[in-house]
Amino acid sequence: MIIANTIQEVRAHVYGWKKYHTIGFVPTMGYLHEGHLSLIERSVAENAKTIVSIFVNPMQFSPTEDLDKYPRDLESDKAMCRKAGANLIFYPQVEEIYPKDFYSYVDMEGLTKELCGKTRANHFRGVCTVVNKLFNIVAADRAYFGQKDAQQLAVIKKMVRDLNMDIEIIGCPIIREVDGLAKSSRNSYLSLEERKAAQVVSQAIFKGEELVKSGEISAKNIIESMTKIVQTEPLAKIDYIEIVDLDTLEKIQEVTKPTLGAVAIYIGKTRLIDNFAVY
Ligand code: AMP
Repeated sequence: MIIANTIQEVRAHVYGWKKYHTIGFVPTMGYLHEGHLSLIERSVAENAKTIVSIFVNPMQFSPTEDLDKYPRDLESDKAMCRKAGANLIFYPQVEEIYPKDFYSYVDMEGLTKELCGKTRANHFRGVCTVVNKLFNIVAADRAYFGQKDAQQLAVIKKMVRDLNMDIEIIGCPIIREVDGLAKSSRNSYLSLEERKAAQVVSQAIFKGEELVKSGEISAKNIIESMTKIVQTEPLAKIDYIEIVDLDTLEKIQEVTKPTLGAVAIYIGKTRLIDNFAVY
């Protein structure tokens, strides 16, 4: 497995591969877990070559967020990628991606102001910009994203359509801990007590999904039931619990077409997101 730190190195390998092989790409911020692994394994199964990027993208963090303390463990990440069969890790320094004279951004007007966009103002500008750059660097045929970050997945799909980018975006299911908590690098911030409290997040998601599947169409009723579950936990603080259209991410009153139930909940200082999608 190749570790490339520069764009030039990645391009040299991709240039050789591109002629005869399909290339799958999995962008990550590292501190890999089974959620990331599921994307890498899927890419390895569906492509001749798989590239994983590990880059904690400063542009998608606001000044008050956790950029400096974001967890990192390159040795463990390398071992997981190697075991999963990845061919190349792109692990650039910040200056490689954002040189001093960097002036260009990808900004999306729709989809980015809802849900997480309400409290994370420039987050999706950072995501779209870096993903666009990474796509240009790795020149992959397919890129794999988790449904865990449902809004991100919707935004990336839209960016690819809007800008006619020649890459297929593949959404992959949420991987969870045994008690239901969606796996996340940020779960490592939770104390033992908080980790236990965090169960209400997935419990609320499962309740919402169960209600929709059993025929409840009132978004208000679904949100109320989910809210009640979260409120049983004193360490939990709701950022949002919303029922939205799966494609436009706009709030809906009634569940009649593909729908996303999405939550962001603070457990102590840690903000966790989770969701369910019904088609
Ligand atoms: P991150 O390193 O958090 O930026 O995540 C990199 C990719 O892994 C994104 O496409 C995420 O949606 C995906 N991912 C993170 N957690 C999970 C999970 N629990 N299940 C499936 N995919 C995930």
